[in-house]
Amino acid sequence: MNRMRNCCRFFLDLLYPNRCPCCDAFLPWNAYLCSACMEKIHVSPDALCRKCGKAKEECMCAVLPAYDEAIAISYYKKEAKSGLIAMKKSTSRNFGWYAGEQIGKWILEQPDWMMTDGIVPVPMSFGKRMLRGYNQAELIAKGIASVTHIPVLKNCLKKKHGYRAQHTLGAGARAENTEAFQPGGRDLRGYRLILCDDILTTGITMNRCAELLKESGAEAVYAAVAATTCRKREE
Ligand SMILES: [Zn+2]
Ligand SMILES: [Zn+2]
Repeated sequence: MNRMRNCCRFFLDLLYPNRCPCCDAFLPWNAYLCSACMEKIHVSPDALCRKCGKAKEECMCAVLPAYDEAIAISYYKKEAKSGLIAMKKSTSRNFGWYAGEQIGKWILEQPDWMMTDGIVPVPMSFGKRMLRGYNQAELIAKGIASVTHIPVLKNCLKKKHGYRAQHTLGAGARAENTEAFQPGGRDLRGYRLILCDDILTTGITMNRCAELLKESGAEAVYAAVAATTCRKREE
């Protein structure tokens, strides 16, 4: 647990009472989500394909993801969707911290993941980061780090300006848009890394970032996301 983060949360709660980002219920200052929402969003990692991170019935391993394994803690629907949207709109960071800590707890039980050298958040362009005040992938990365003590690494990937957010684009444009990502300049020879982001949809972003990390020398890239989309489970 990060003492500084908790201190901020305690004082912030006096001004803006803490609420569940998924259902808006009031919460104690030190809770991230209400217990009903925690239960509703929970997805067992066994329900997902370990390699691509999608629901088993929508496995996309046939397109050969560049990352080696993947984990998500929720499906992108209902409560989880509200939590992630609140994080994107900067109204609440709770879902990011929660997802990061949950992923971290899962990683503690995975020897291969615990032996990684660092966590790499999918980058956001400088302008957008300034506008929002934070990169949501970085929030999740810090949540994972607070539990596992695996460091969050800088300068592994960067994102150029002027590219639109992936979720606003169609499939063709998304593929082109991945040109937005570039290596961050850090020598990653021999590194084993955890790449993290908020949502896994088509996998194009994760794939491109994993490819770039491997081009910079990374030996293995594991993907960790807060939510994975699943057409059949969307309501
Ligand atoms: Zn709730
Ligand atoms: Zn798969």
